[in-house]
Amino acid sequence: MTAPSTCSRAGCREPAVRRVNWRNPRIHSPDRVKVWLACGDHDGYLHDYLASRGFPVVVTDLAAPLVELPA
Ligand SMILES: [Zn+2]
Repeated sequence: MTAPSTCSRAGCREPAVRRVNWRNPRIHSPDRVKVWLACGDHDGYLHDYLASRGFPVVVTDLAAPLVELPA
């Protein structure tokens, strides 16, 4: 069974088309990848939100999971 994937942006109900892969280096080990889903309007917003905190973040297509983030 496949649940519909929706954008992680608060209040947004659009279908997700991208994965925002990120990690908090202070609490996550290097092989850990956290994922937020984003619609086409919010992938940039979510990327910038995380990047502004100094987290490694890479945006990929929804169908392309990331196994490791750059340090
Ligand atoms: Zn959205």
